[in-house]
Parts: sequence; C-alpha cells; structure tokens
Amino acid sequence: MPTIVPAFARIGEENAFAVLARATALAAEGRDIINLGIGQPDFPTPPHIVEAAVKALRDGHHGYTPATGILPLREGVAADIHRRLGVTVSPDAILIVPGGKVTMFAAILMFGEPGAEILYPDPGFPIYRSMIEFTGATPVPVPIREENGFAFSAEETLGLITPKTRLLILNSPANPTGGVTPKAEIDKLVAGLARHPDVAILSDEIYGQMLYDGEEHVSLLTYPEIRDRLILLDGWSKTYAMTGWRMGFSVWPAPLLDAARKLAVNSYSCVNAAAQWAGLAALTGPQDCVAAMVAEFDKRRRIVVEGLNGLPDISAATPKGAFYAFPNISRTGWKAKPLANALLEQAGVAVIGGPDFGILGEGYIRLSYANSAENIRKALDRMGNFLSENR
Ligand code: PLP
Repeated sequence: MPTIVPAFARIGEENAFAVLARATALAAEGRDIINLGIGQPDFPTPPHIVEAAVKALRDGHHGYTPATGILPLREGVAADIHRRLGVTVSPDAILIVPGGKVTMFAAILMFGEPGAEILYPDPGFPIYRSMIEFTGATPVPVPIREENGFAFSAEETLGLITPKTRLLILNSPANPTGGVTPKAEIDKLVAGLARHPDVAILSDEIYGQMLYDGEEHVSLLTYPEIRDRLILLDGWSKTYAMTGWRMGFSVWPAPLLDAARKLAVNSYSCVNAAAQWAGLAALTGPQDCVAAMVAEFDKRRRIVVEGLNGLPDISAATPKGAFYAFPNISRTGWKAKPLANALLEQAGVAVIGGPDFGILGEGYIRLSYANSAENIRKALDRMGNFLSENR
C-alpha cells in the first residue's frame, strides 16, 4: 500500500461542500431542501460574459496562454482596479489564477513552513487554516468578534505578531460573518505594520464589491507603504456570478509574482483560455449587472436579518458585506454543528455550523442569502418551527 506524505493528514476541507453534497443527496431522495449553505450567487453569469467565452472558442482561443494570463486581461484588471480604487497597478504585477483560492494556496505555500507563524481570521474562510497546517506552519487565529461588529481589531492583530510571524491574512468584507472592517481600524493596522517590515500581507478582497448601506470598500492596495509586501486576492466568482468558471486575479510584489508564476507553470500552466476572454468581457462590459445583483442581495439581507431576529432565542447582527448572515444561536441551548445538522436532516434547511469556520465560530451558524427571497422566507419559517418544537 503506497504511503502518502504526512502533510496530507493535516489538510482540512471546506464543510460547505460536504453540506452541499448531503443536501443534494436528500433532494435526490425527494426531500424538499432549501440550500442556504453554499456561498455562491444563485444568478446565472450575465449573458454578455457567456457570449464572450463562446466567441473566444469560435475564434480559436484553444491553446495555452502565458502562465500569468493573457495581456489584454491583465491590462483589463489594471484598468478595473484604477476605476474602482484609483490605484495604478502595472499589468505585470497581476496574475490570472483559476479561482481566488489559488492565490491563497500560493501565498500560504510561499510563507508556510515548520517554525513559521501565520495569522488568519477566526471565524474565517476554512481554507486559510487548512493550508497553513498543510505547510507545517503554526496557525495563529486573529479573533473576529461579534461585539466588534465582526471587524478585525488592529490592536489585537498587531499584538499577535511575533518574530516568527511570516504572513498576515486579512479578509474584509468577510466570510462567514459579513463583517466589514472600518477604514480607521485598517489605517491603524497599516501604521502598526511599519514596525514589522518582514511580515507579508494577504488581503482577501473577494467580496470587495458586495457592500451595503453605503459602505465603501477599503482596499489594502490603497496603502502605498505596504505595497512591497502585499498580495491582493480578488476574482470574478462572486462579483460576476462565475464560481464555476474558476477565474481569479491577484496583485503581487515583483519577486513574489515570479514565484507564483513558477508555481503556475509547475501545476496548472494557465487559466482556461476562453474563460479569460469572458473575464475580460466582464470587466469591460456594462457594470449594471453587478449593481443589480448587489441590490437583490441587499433586499434578501434585510429579509434574513429581520426574520432571524424574530426567531426564538436567536439574534443576528446586520451584515455590511458579502452575502452571509452569522446569527448567534448560543441561547437556543443547541451547539452549532448539531443544530446545523438537525436543521438539514429534520427541517430541510442547509446551513453551516460556525465551528466549520474556526474556534470562535461556536455559538453561531452561517446562512448564505444567495437564494430567492421566497426560499429564504420559507427557510426562516421552517427554522422557527423547528426551534419552537426543539428547545
Ligand atoms: N475567499 C473567500 C473569503 C471566499 O469566501 C471564497 C469562496 O467562497 C474564496 C476566497 C474563493 O473564491 P474562488 O471561488 O474564486 O476560488
């Protein structure tokens, strides 16, 4: 029996995919399941983007592209960053990757090794910790607290940095909480990072265009003082409803970009050529599709928050970004994972238990409101009935 290396015993998973598989299996048995588990827009990719991929295939874009991505797309990303954030980035600093996750993967591989410490948000996207453990580095959770509006605290984050810290992972707007860290806090963090010039920063801004109540996105790219050690993670998955296309982009300091490019050459070679042309159409085409999706998410967000706060023993903070609600369920008497499991098996509502996002996730469940308003209302009714009957 071949033996694989021990690192694979340390690699984790994203439980949202397991919940999706279970929800799909139950639905196949004829159960009526409402899926508020998986974090992907329920809208189709806008038609002009799909057409661009079809045209690219018809035009013969069938071969490898440069590992960093086609130049028109890297130029398109640079123009998009300038339009949205007012920051000038060279197309040569941009890497086109098969999904935002690949940026995370590359960055954590670059800095993770036994003896190194990597700071990451808890609760946070589960792959951060999984990948850190895979490399043998020590994961150091940065607490993300409800009483702090699910923002990270600059003071607390800086206090966790030691001489062994190699990488700091930030995520705002955040999964799973919908929290958005205010500019003043980011200013404070960046100022404090001047004392730690050897710490690299990975800023996961995949939800940067999913903001509500007039919130403006504060990108770490807008701080020139950290540009030489900042990796920006972004992509098309959430903004343009393109999760299945596997399209992301990242911005890197030059030496790190070359390392990431080599990783691409050694693994996936390049991103699917037709998808890259579709990605360009997304950036250069009309942006009202993004505004329309965000407006729809906003409507559902209000329904979710109001509905959750009307359920017995549940309270939900109002998320300012992304498309998740992270209600506090600690007063129900349930632990989060058994509750998530019972809601799926008995009430037909798929949600994710907070502990799947970290130690501080106990006492919470995550609901994705990337589902129709009608389904969300139905799910809330089912949850209410379940909680009334199972106190
Ligand atoms: N970062 C965060 C915080 C996410 O929630 C996700 C997806 O759920 C990703 C990155 C990965 O996105 P992609 O599908 O582009 O790999």
